Amino acid sequence: MGYIIVQRFIQRTNKHSHLILGPLAYHRIPFSTTLSNLVFAMEEVGVLIVGAGPAGLATAACLTQFSIPYVIVERESCSASLWRNRAYDRLKLHLAKEFCELPHMSYPADAPTYIPKTLFVKYLDDYIERFNIQPKYLTSVDSSTYDNDKKCWSIVAHDMAGCTAINFIAKFLVVASGENSAENIPVIPGLQSFPGEAMHSSRYKSGKSFSGKSVLVIGSGNSGMEIAYDLATHGANTSIVIRSPIHVMTKALIRLGMTLAHRVPLNLVDNLLVAAAKFVFGDLSRHGITMPKVGPMILKSKTGRSAVIDVGTVGLIKQRIIQVSILSDMI
Ligand SMILES: Cc1cc2nc3c(=O)[nH]c(=O)nc-3n(C[C@H](O)[C@H](O)[C@H](O)COP(=O)(O)OP(=O)(O)OC[C@H]3O[C@@H](n4cnc5c(N)ncnc54)[C@H](O)[C@@H]3O)c2cc1C
Repeated sequence: MGYIIVQRFIQRTNKHSHLILGPLAYHRIPFSTTLSNLVFAMEEVGVLIVGAGPAGLATAACLTQFSIPYVIVERESCSASLWRNRAYDRLKLHLAKEFCELPHMSYPADAPTYIPKTLFVKYLDDYIERFNIQPKYLTSVDSSTYDNDKKCWSIVAHDMAGCTAINFIAKFLVVASGENSAENIPVIPGLQSFPGEAMHSSRYKSGKSFSGKSVLVIGSGNSGMEIAYDLATHGANTSIVIRSPIHVMTKALIRLGMTLAHRVPLNLVDNLLVAAAKFVFGDLSRHGITMPKVGPMILKSKTGRSAVIDVGTVGLIKQRIIQVSILSDMI
């Protein structure tokens, strides 16, 4: 079914000169490589951490607090590569700073509630320095197996610079390889012959270079909706595809919901958020945006799907500056 939808979708949208493929399509990174011709080295460690994104760095800092030795490996040449290399310019943390702090180090007192990308990267750099975290960069983990008899992990990684394979023997393995760190464009019939430019949202930086062009954004999660806003405000003729029902919330509502969730049952928090969102945004169904049956907090906890935090996109949709395409219309 997805195949047919996508095929028709491409046929119906060939008026667009650009396609931005949003997070319809993230997937966890498989560990795989060809290990023949590599020189093997062996290294014993207490804890091996895979990935120097925020989660890996936080784990490293916590282990340091307890003087537990560890090694942290990162396949790219820098830490937090998602934030440094694969995030658009206007990005701020979607959640308020009190929910996005790493352990044992607060943001500076004058930091804004919603931390911009550059400040978040600076915070991570300070964090690395404070806890003296020294990732082994350009080291990619390929496989791991647990030896039940020896009660340890055998992890094979390769050093991308030196063509050396390293076999880590570790008592504990922490996989912090992220869920948003790899781009994944699904097979879309017709995409190869699409005459315009097509890119994944992780390569999108700014709408500056799209002014006056027609762009279709595929995917209406947080990235897709914010990129559509960025494009439209830079003068691109913007459309967005909405496939499924979504909760649209304000930042303040999500902040309230996350604060209440510590004390109040989630279904009550959801009732409050849904009522407030209806009050703030009105009925969005005539603009092609419908709400899921399950409330935003329960949906997140059960499926991992986040509510969309509006950055102004809804206003532009209401003014028809951004056009909404609904997949079911295209079948
Ligand atoms: C546009 C956008 C906005 C977001 N906004 C927020 C927000 O406001 N608040 C929030 O909390 N979260 C937000 N997120 C979620 C974001 O994923 C997290 O903030 C955070 O980056 C997750 O950290 P992580 O360390 O788990 O994963 P990542 O940041 O993805 O880091 C994983 C690291 O592991 C490395 N790696 C992967 N596989 C291997 C391997 N085989 N060997 C070695 N290294 C490997 C990767 O290169 C990467 O550096 C946002 C995400 C996006 C895309």
